Amino acid sequence: MQTNFAPERLEDPQLKSSEKILRTCVHCGFCTATCPTYLLLGDELDSPRGRIYLIKDMLEGGKPATQEVVTHVDRCLSCLSCMTTCPSGVHYMHLVDHARSYINQTYRRPLADRAMRGLLAFVLPHPNRFRLAMLGAMIAKPFKPLLRAVPAVGQRLAAMVELAPAGLPARSPLEGPRVLPAFGERKGRVAILSGCAQTVLAPGINEAAIRLLNRHGVEVVLPKGEGCCGALVHHMGEERQSHAFAARNIDAWIREIEGEGLDAILVTASGCGTTVKDYGFMFRDDPAYAAKAAKVSAMARDVTEYLATLDLAPARKMGDTIAYHSACSLQHGQQIREEPKTLLKRMGFVVTDVPEGHICCGSAGVYNVLQPEIAGALRERKVDNIAKTRPALIAAGNIGCMTQIELELRKRGSDLPIVHTVELLDWATGGPLPERLAEKGFKEREILAH
Ligand code: SF4
Ligand code: SF4
Repeated sequence: MQTNFAPERLEDPQLKSSEKILRTCVHCGFCTATCPTYLLLGDELDSPRGRIYLIKDMLEGGKPATQEVVTHVDRCLSCLSCMTTCPSGVHYMHLVDHARSYINQTYRRPLADRAMRGLLAFVLPHPNRFRLAMLGAMIAKPFKPLLRAVPAVGQRLAAMVELAPAGLPARSPLEGPRVLPAFGERKGRVAILSGCAQTVLAPGINEAAIRLLNRHGVEVVLPKGEGCCGALVHHMGEERQSHAFAARNIDAWIREIEGEGLDAILVTASGCGTTVKDYGFMFRDDPAYAAKAAKVSAMARDVTEYLATLDLAPARKMGDTIAYHSACSLQHGQQIREEPKTLLKRMGFVVTDVPEGHICCGSAGVYNVLQPEIAGALRERKVDNIAKTRPALIAAGNIGCMTQIELELRKRGSDLPIVHTVELLDWATGGPLPERLAEKGFKEREILAH
């Protein structure tokens, strides 16, 4: 795509980088076919190509964002399906991240929108605040119809309350900084991201990952000072906040790397993993953090990427049919498609692919709160497609997708459980039956004689 940026504007490194991305787009439109919002809305401006034009026009002219640009960029899920499809290698993620931050700097949103975004940014990245908010949302559930009637923010408040689970699990005994030693001879040492929302909604995921790693000779460290990866605020264009969260994590991990050393930094929520892998880009022009951030990103792994390098073998006789939901952040953001399925198959599970598996479930960070209608339509479509495979359970590698799909299952009165891939791998290799499966009546499986 031809661009016409004034040369002095390209002295801004962020604009320069976006201009380079814009020039790689050849307008072919292949990406429109796999874009969930184009699929649902059929409007070119809600396709990747349409958004690229809008962003180009906004950045090139140095104009403040218009309501039109904001509407169509806000509707983008950042699912990155377009990046998988694009034959020219357009880095849409970096472009839309820049656009979101530019919008935040140049556009004044209506008060209700600002209040909603402010609330999400205040609550979500902090586990204690999030826990309180979830308890509040559980109490507010019966009042959902009243919430819906609140002017301007009703639909969003109702969506937030609806997403809250029926109950919260107890705090994990593994919360807080600590070192979990390997059983037997130590073969590796990794850090694992505790994160924010996942610690509250499903602490069992990291507990399963740690048990599994420890049993396979890997020491796990939860370093002092790490927390939210910054993704949730990053996708809302809050660059200052997301960089502050990221810098805190980088400092915590670098202390550990320079101390006892680390082989990898593991992430069990793929939405967070995509962001941690991008820290190097986020800090590329920061002399104090560029090298440290690049090092952290190079060491970041989705938990299944790392587990694929270990010698995992089944300890129980598994045979259930699993619908594997491939989170967008894993398949498009990190290009990880086969590892989770291969590991599950190695454990004896029968793994089925979900039709239209490349299309987002509508979770996308806080998208399901900010854009409840589109998110709801995508959620229904996803669960319809999952149901076609007639699975005994669903596996996924991202807490956001798990919460989103679980909501739809709850609405349909379905008993189908959804668990994290690592919980199944832990169970199959000798760990306990995952709680979510026990609640749905699953029984322990026969131990294999070795
Ligand atoms: S990130 Fe997803 S929703 Fe956004 S333009 Fe690309 S395919 Fe469409
Ligand atoms: S597929 Fe890539 S090159 Fe083609 S229009 Fe979409 S972003 Fe541009």
